[in-house]
Amino acid sequence: MAVSPAGAPVSAREGPASGGVGPKGVPDLSPDPLFEHSVVFQMALRQLQTVAEHFEIESGVLERLSKPKRALIVSCPIRMDKGHTENFIGFRVQHSLTSGPAKGGLRFHPNVDLGEVAALAMWMSWKCGIMNLPFGGGKGGIACDPATLSRGERERLTRRYTEEVGVIIGPRQDVMAPDMGTDEQTMAWIMDTYSARVGYACPEIVTGKPVELGGCVGRREATGRGVVYCVVEALKELKIAPESATAVVQGFGNVGSVAAAELHSRGVKVIAVSDRYGAIRNDKGLDIPALNKYMSEAPPESHPMLTNFPGAEACDPNELLTMKCTVLVPAALERVIDEKNAPKLQCRVIAEGANGPTTPDADKIIERSDIFVIPDVLCNAGGVTVSYFEWVQDIQQLMWSEELVNQKLRELMLRSFATVRGLAVDRKLPMRVAALSVGVKKVALEKDRRGLFP
Ligand code: GLU
Repeated sequence: MAVSPAGAPVSAREGPASGGVGPKGVPDLSPDPLFEHSVVFQMALRQLQTVAEHFEIESGVLERLSKPKRALIVSCPIRMDKGHTENFIGFRVQHSLTSGPAKGGLRFHPNVDLGEVAALAMWMSWKCGIMNLPFGGGKGGIACDPATLSRGERERLTRRYTEEVGVIIGPRQDVMAPDMGTDEQTMAWIMDTYSARVGYACPEIVTGKPVELGGCVGRREATGRGVVYCVVEALKELKIAPESATAVVQGFGNVGSVAAAELHSRGVKVIAVSDRYGAIRNDKGLDIPALNKYMSEAPPESHPMLTNFPGAEACDPNELLTMKCTVLVPAALERVIDEKNAPKLQCRVIAEGANGPTTPDADKIIERSDIFVIPDVLCNAGGVTVSYFEWVQDIQQLMWSEELVNQKLRELMLRSFATVRGLAVDRKLPMRVAALSVGVKKVALEKDRRGLFP
């Protein structure tokens, strides 16, 4: 027996699970020493533990879910523009390969470490499970600050990293995609490096590529769009008309900028946004199309500043999360909503565009409020969903229209939203626990059905 709602066994194939499982006596999941210094990994483990407290998971399966299947650390020496050599540390973690190839982004950020990447890979497993995609969870990262690297340096770093992790990636093994600090161009370099290695053009090695190289139309916008499909459902349930709602978006990258545009186009007044350099507000509503135009027209190397945008006033980025609004979209880093600012939140809905923006301690506080949480593993799953469409199209060598992509994305997001919401209501669970449970239970069931080798 693998997983079932507590007290309701679904199968007697292996008899009752033994050794401290179920709501009572769930084994304490302590992190492997490799990850014990990572607060982000501990957070992911705590979430898994919470699921195991609500749903029966066979203890051996739970133990396997608590550790990544594979993790590779590589050093990537590259020649810098000034002529000297620098060595960057890179990671690729495959949390699970049970449901298909590992799937997940590649992140360039100074704080990247093994624990963070392992946690992000675990979240990808649950995310793919919630969306019912035939993938396991993976994530990669290079500890670097992409803003200080030239285009040439970023290209050499990406190509070197691809070579170094080449032993564990492949279209049927591990398929990367953009994440924080990486983009379509990064994916094009990975595709080219991998294709040169195997000797033929292999677009299905990555998703989130430029459309000319087999990328999927609508992939870049997919995460932000998916966030807003979920927000619309939540507002419907709360009986709030979008035209009477306001939104605050933290992070104005690929996810935040598209989410802001999609909210704006539905009549939601976006009153404040921020990025790593600052924050702006306009209580009458920011002109989001003009802001997106302003940001995209500035040359990327000049680091366009939100705060120079006319028609808004600069504000304190630290106050953004606790501003009064209907919808708060954290779309930047992990752990930005913690036990200190959680009691001060003044929103009605939190739509987690980022991965892991809310700590478990903050969750406990939010659970006592009437805030409707759309958790990350559901809310930002639009990206990996369209990545799946891209991978399928590349393998079959055919192309979908943007209309079909958006229609299928909406269909899958709404289906998963309804599944998660249904479980949360039926079992009186917080939305995060319900969402994680759907993902964890799917992976656990598959592990159980495949059995243990040898
Ligand atoms: N990096 C994105 C995420 O965290 C997308 C992953 C993918 O498309 O594989 O979901």
